[in-house]
Amino acid sequence: MIYSALKGVQDIMPPDIFIWQRIESSARAILYNYGFREIRLPIIESTELFIRSIGETSDIVDKEMYTFPDKANRSITLRPEGTASAVRCYVEHNLNTLQSPQKFFYAGPMFRYERPQKGRFRQFYQIGVEAFGSAAPSQDAELIIMLKNLLEQIGLRELSFEINSIGCEACRPDYKNALLAFFGDKLGEFCPDCVRRYSVNPLRILDCKVERCIQLRQGAPAVTDFLCVDCRTHFDELLGILTLMGVRYALNPNLVRGLDYYTRTTFEVTSEHLGAQKAVAAGGRYDRLVKEFGGPDTPAIGFAIGMERLAALLKEISPEQTPAPKAFIATLGKEAEKEGFKIAETLRAKGHWIEQNYGDATLKSQLRKADRINADIALIIGENELQEGKVQWKNLKTKEQGMIEINNVESVLTDVIQSPHP
Ligand code: ATP
Ligand code: MG
Repeated sequence: MIYSALKGVQDIMPPDIFIWQRIESSARAILYNYGFREIRLPIIESTELFIRSIGETSDIVDKEMYTFPDKANRSITLRPEGTASAVRCYVEHNLNTLQSPQKFFYAGPMFRYERPQKGRFRQFYQIGVEAFGSAAPSQDAELIIMLKNLLEQIGLRELSFEINSIGCEACRPDYKNALLAFFGDKLGEFCPDCVRRYSVNPLRILDCKVERCIQLRQGAPAVTDFLCVDCRTHFDELLGILTLMGVRYALNPNLVRGLDYYTRTTFEVTSEHLGAQKAVAAGGRYDRLVKEFGGPDTPAIGFAIGMERLAALLKEISPEQTPAPKAFIATLGKEAEKEGFKIAETLRAKGHWIEQNYGDATLKSQLRKADRINADIALIIGENELQEGKVQWKNLKTKEQGMIEINNVESVLTDVIQSPHP
């Protein structure tokens, strides 16, 4: 029996994992500079949590959740996103009693039962951030600018920032009515999903990816024409800060996002290099969610980055950077192998990546291996070397070679740092 991974999930292995690690370490460094601290949230939550927050009529809750009963017959769901858990955590631990704002990030797998395709998986990874406590437009701007810096630091360029405001409870009902009036007479021509969206949440029609629906919604009223004074002021101030800070963005009044909890600012970052699944990151404000979860009235905003899409973009633009060992220790005979093992341990303890020979192998095959794994140096120990207490070294890049006392081997490794590297 040969097992294979389930449909829509993947193993992330070297060399791709090096790209992932690079993304994660750059992201962490930047997020820390903006005062975001890591939280580790559970992967399973009660199903109710996601229904309440993401919304019964959203695609995620309607079609994409991994939901199952546990042994005590509770309904459990593998998290499809991180915001709901972050809000639960904030309310459960009374984080509102601490200094405001509270800024968090998390990184980990999310699960959605989607049709697997390029850029779309059933287990995928996100880095998400959430900031609780500030309603100021400068908080929105901070997140967007941080996201831009993060993506640029990782090496991405040619990204488009799209931004919108979808209003609040005060102004959205008027907009919904305008949409209902606009779509009403041609409803029969829309896809069945949109016909359903019409009665449950007409804003979602703006998010439909069916070509015919995209045509039909040409000329639909723009949400930004319906914003109340407070939402309008918030949006204008945000755009003002972004312009001041040199962020280039495009306004997209159709950017409504597929989750029910959003209010006011929504944004998305896309790349034309990704094909159909072109969004690398997306987010927005969710000023009502903490209260809906039983906490105090707390404005909040967050975004999530899709790791697979980010890794795919990076793979395209930057040469592979596979790390390589500092030295390979080639040994001939059992005694030499033991001595080599000891040297390897000493050097590893000093912080070097050392590979060693295992068992019997010819010198030629060992040196070939050292080359293949791209080691800088080969350290060779045979009968003669053992007797003399020395090691033969060979710089595999410059072809220089020589002998060195066993006690002094590390100097060969540190000197190589200065030598030219191809
Ligand atoms: P899409 O429109 O592509 O379905 P979404 O609106 O469902 O995206 P969000 O819930 O906002 O996505 O998630 C944020 C990011 O997570 C997306 O921009 C994307 O990069 C990534 N993402 C979402 N779903 C998947 C998936 N099934 N596989 C891989 N990445 C995903
Ligand atoms: Mg989706």
